[in-house]
Amino acid sequence: MPRMVVHCRTMADIQLAIAAARSAGLALSVRGRGHDWAGRALCDGLVLDLSGMREVHVSPDRRSARISGGARAVDVLTATDPLGLAAVTGSCSAVGMAGLTLGGGYGPLIGRFGLALDNLIAADIVLADGRIVTAESGNEEDLFWALRGGGGNFGVVAEMRIRLHELPNVVSGVLVYPFTEAGTVLRRFAEIAPSLPDELTVQVCAVAGPDGAPVILLVPTWSGRQGGGDAHIAPLLKLGTLLDNSVDAVRYGASLSVFDPFIVNGQRVFMETCSLPVLNEDAAEIIVEAMAKAVSAGCAILTHEFRGAASRVPVEATAFGLRRDHVLIEILASFPDRRGRLSSGSPFPADIRICWARARRTARPQALVPTPDGWPWSSGTTIPATSSVPRSRCRRIRILPPRSNSFTGRQEVLRRTRARRPVFLTATDGACERLIARERRSLRQCKTGENGNGNALESIAL
Ligand SMILES: Cc1cc2nc3c(=O)[nH]c(=O)nc-3n(C[C@H](O)[C@H](O)[C@H](O)COP(=O)(O)OP(=O)(O)OC[C@H]3O[C@@H](n4cnc5c(N)ncnc54)[C@H](O)[C@@H]3O)c2cc1C
Repeated sequence: MPRMVVHCRTMADIQLAIAAARSAGLALSVRGRGHDWAGRALCDGLVLDLSGMREVHVSPDRRSARISGGARAVDVLTATDPLGLAAVTGSCSAVGMAGLTLGGGYGPLIGRFGLALDNLIAADIVLADGRIVTAESGNEEDLFWALRGGGGNFGVVAEMRIRLHELPNVVSGVLVYPFTEAGTVLRRFAEIAPSLPDELTVQVCAVAGPDGAPVILLVPTWSGRQGGGDAHIAPLLKLGTLLDNSVDAVRYGASLSVFDPFIVNGQRVFMETCSLPVLNEDAAEIIVEAMAKAVSAGCAILTHEFRGAASRVPVEATAFGLRRDHVLIEILASFPDRRGRLSSGSPFPADIRICWARARRTARPQALVPTPDGWPWSSGTTIPATSSVPRSRCRRIRILPPRSNSFTGRQEVLRRTRARRPVFLTATDGACERLIARERRSLRQCKTGENGNGNALESIAL
């Protein structure tokens, strides 16, 4: 549990919060939109919350957008959709653009336009000593290199400039196949997948349908020229007995709403990941086998493709090391309430689902390559193994201590600090001195255990 959460609205707020954390010797973490699987947004010191910084300014002529450090994908796409432009995002609209971009950013446009980080033009970043620098090609180049996939903690990105692409609409939606045909559907998909053009990405999902029984979903997204996708999508409609088909031409931003029903605030989700060179017949078999053993409707398996434009970027160009075709597999176990029960009658506590997810990741180790710490970049773990660029380049410029990054780590933090009460501070322009004074007083109170008035959280607006 954090000691403090500072809600920042300006660069000055960020500078102030960093200075306060440093002067108090507190650990510091950055929270964009809180979607990090590894829980890196939280620490038991000062959490710098950027959710109030979500401005988006589009320059249609320059095909770029300036976005604040706490903007979500949906904030950007709400501005770009009406202009027939699109930013490279992940497949979930609520994810923070900075968190996504700094880590990598696999998404439906990956084959055509690369990772989200390949579309970062510049970042205005507040460093640990309070300086503000712009990292871009030709300026602060080491920092610019490390920001893109280096595991984070190089500073706080207050604003980024990202590339936009002309994309009046995409052809996207959901194809639903019965789980009884899962083996055939996935095998047939595996046969045609290598021949799909860069403009077509397909996410494969094994999830519970409305009645709780598993189904296979395919989510194609065509981002090529209008009318050009039909021929490529057509074979995907004939993989088995199609139960439902919502594929249509839509704005790119609208296409991301497909996953909204599955992303429920407050739901607890455990995730394991692994990667595969290709989604082949063997992998199809593993997915079917895994879902056949699913212990509840909270179990799901999702794929994210990495290929095309993303694979063509030279590995030395950014700190993101996995520059080769692969398929990232998410194995999810979710459980809606604290006791980990699906409903009061559910016989499956959270642990059983977590065990299921763990066991699936380690099944057939020769076929699945585990990616530690959630998504591959969570702690910069991709760099030493897969990049020829020395890790020291990253270490040299890392300015905040790297977080230990794991889901388990976060739970330990929560356990250790459960007794303390966090203090919420809201920094506003011109309130720096008051914030520092307030912070010092709060800190003294925290240290002596006198903080708070008995409420779970105390909120202080300056
Ligand atoms: C439901 C869901 C769907 C997802 N889908 C995808 C997907 O399709 N593709 C994909 O690639 N990833 C996906 N992810 C992973 C996601 O991109 C990363 O976890 C990302 O870090 C989340 O960013 P955030 O700002 O929402 O999270 P936070 O937890 O707020 O931030 C995560 C970390 O990013 C860093 N960070 C965030 N903002 C800043 C900033 N302004 N300055 C400096 N550092 C910052 C910090 O280290 C922070 O601790 C998904 C995650 C979830 C939960």
